[in-house]
Amino acid sequence: MERDELDDDRPMSVRCAQCGECPEWESLSDGYGERWLGVCRCGRMQAFLPDQPAVESKDALAAFLLGAGREISAPTPAWIRLFMRSLEQPWNTRWRYSPEPCGACAERVCFVLQVCPRPYWLATCRLCLACGRATTAYSQPWQNLHELAVSGSVWAPPCLAVQRLRNCVFRPFARLEAPN
Ligand SMILES: [Zn+2]
Ligand SMILES: [Zn+2]
Repeated sequence: MERDELDDDRPMSVRCAQCGECPEWESLSDGYGERWLGVCRCGRMQAFLPDQPAVESKDALAAFLLGAGREISAPTPAWIRLFMRSLEQPWNTRWRYSPEPCGACAERVCFVLQVCPRPYWLATCRLCLACGRATTAYSQPWQNLHELAVSGSVWAPPCLAVQRLRNCVFRPFARLEAPN
């Protein structure tokens, strides 16, 4: 394949329609084809489907997770709502995509966040967008102190892992800049 043809399949040059910045792109592919999700610093998400490049999806995250035309019509799952809200003002959470499969469902749509939940504590949070599994690990690296990681996927009422994830996203003591 020619280089130009390959480039056509990659949305990297697409700019955010809202602010003109270049979003960060992640891709996934399964039996329904290859799909890309661009998350912009301003919080706007857009999906790119190489099989249907002309399709503009209203719900970019759903199109990315499920494919075009298969968007969720049922209520949005709680973890997707948390994830989408976390990208907005005033939180502007900088999630980092993690290519490792989810420990619960084995899908590769996990995002990682590191914050200081309280002074001198570091929390590493992991969220699977496919099944809602949350894992939070608290540590004091400078003291070489690591608590056991807590995992769970119960959102109502929230289990400990979900409560900690919510605190880390919406009420952190301090944020860390995600490495690019
Ligand atoms: Zn933008
Ligand atoms: Zn999962």
